[in-house]
Amino acid sequence: GCPGRLLELKGNIRVLCRLRPGMPSSLVNAEPGPGGTVTTSYRGRQRHFRLDWVFPPDASQEEVFRELEPTVLSCLQGYSVCIFTYGQTGTGKTYSMEGPPEDPGIAPRALQSLFREMGSGGQHRVTLSMVEIYNEAVRDLLAPGSSERLAVRQGPAGQGGIQVAGLTYWDVPSLETLHQMLSLGRSNRATAATAMNQHSSRSHALVTLTLRGASPRGPGTAGTLHLVDLAGSERAWKTGAAGPMQGDRDGARRLREARAINRSLLALGGVMAALRARRPHIPFRDSQLTRLLQPALGPGATAVLLLQISTRPEDLGETVCSLKFAERVG
Ligand code: ADP
Ligand code: MG
Repeated sequence: GCPGRLLELKGNIRVLCRLRPGMPSSLVNAEPGPGGTVTTSYRGRQRHFRLDWVFPPDASQEEVFRELEPTVLSCLQGYSVCIFTYGQTGTGKTYSMEGPPEDPGIAPRALQSLFREMGSGGQHRVTLSMVEIYNEAVRDLLAPGSSERLAVRQGPAGQGGIQVAGLTYWDVPSLETLHQMLSLGRSNRATAATAMNQHSSRSHALVTLTLRGASPRGPGTAGTLHLVDLAGSERAWKTGAAGPMQGDRDGARRLREARAINRSLLALGGVMAALRARRPHIPFRDSQLTRLLQPALGPGATAVLLLQISTRPEDLGETVCSLKFAERVG
C-alpha cells in the first residue's frame, strides 16, 4: 500500500475518465494526466470538465491499473474500496474492467496484485461473491442454474450491514481458483445475454472480494473490494420518444430496463454526491445497487468512478451527460 497517496483522495471519491480509442473527433478534446480536463463542443457551446485523472485514447490497460493499484491494495489494511466503470454502451466499460485475455483489465490485474501482496503465507482468507442486478432484481452469478431473485434485507440492528438472502459466498484459496470462478460468473451472465438480447449491457455486474486477516487472536479486520461493471448509461427512452406502442413487447421491455437503469444510476449519483458533501442523510435505499453497496460506501470507504466516454460526434449528447454525472459526484 501507499498511505501517502490514499490521504490525497479528496472526499474519498475519485473520478477518472478514459476515452475510447479508434474514433478521433475534434468535438471532444482531452488534456490527459492528473487533474486533466475534457473539453466538449456541443451545440455551439464549449464546456470544460475537470477530473482527477484523464486517460487518453491510447492509454494502456497497465497505465489505468497503475493509478488504481494503491487503492486496490488498501483493502489489505481493512479499507473498503469500490471501483465502478460508468458510461454509454460501447465506450469500453467491460474492456477496462475485464479486458480481453491477452490484455487483461482492472479485475484480473487487481486480483493478481492482491494475491502477490498477500504472499503464500495463508494469513488472509479470501471470499468471493458475484451478483447481477437486472431490472432491480438481484441474481447470484456463482450459483449455477439459479435464476432466482434474491431478497436484499437490512442486517441485524447494530451491525449496520445488509444481507442478501441465499447469496453464495465462496472461499478462494488461490488465484487460479479465483480466475476460474470469475469466468464461471461471467459465463452465467453471458448465458442470460444470448437469451435476452443485449441483456449484459442492461444489467450491473458486481464482484465482491472480502479479505480477512487471520490473526491468532481473532478474525482480524476485513477489507472489501467491489468491482462494478455498470449498465449502459444511455438514455434509452430518448430513442423512442413517444414510448412503446401497444403490443410492442420489445419496446415495453426496453422502457422497463431504461427506467430501472436510470433509477439505479441516479441513486448512485445521489449517494456519491451526498457522501462528498458529507450530508447527514445518504439515500442508500433508493435502488438495489446502492442498498447492496451501502456497507461498502460508508465512512472510510474509497470509491473510484472510471468514466468511459466516446468521442464520436453522434455520441456527443451522451458524452456530455456522462461528464455531467462525473461533475456531480466528483
Ligand atoms: P461497454 O462494456 O461499455 O459496452 P465494451 O467494453 O464492450 O463496451 O467495448 C466496446 C468495444 O470497444 C469492444 O469491442 C472493445 O473491445 C472495444 N474497446 C473498448 N475500449 C477499448 C480500448 N481501450 N482498446 C481497444 N479496444 C477497446
Ligand atoms: Mg459491457
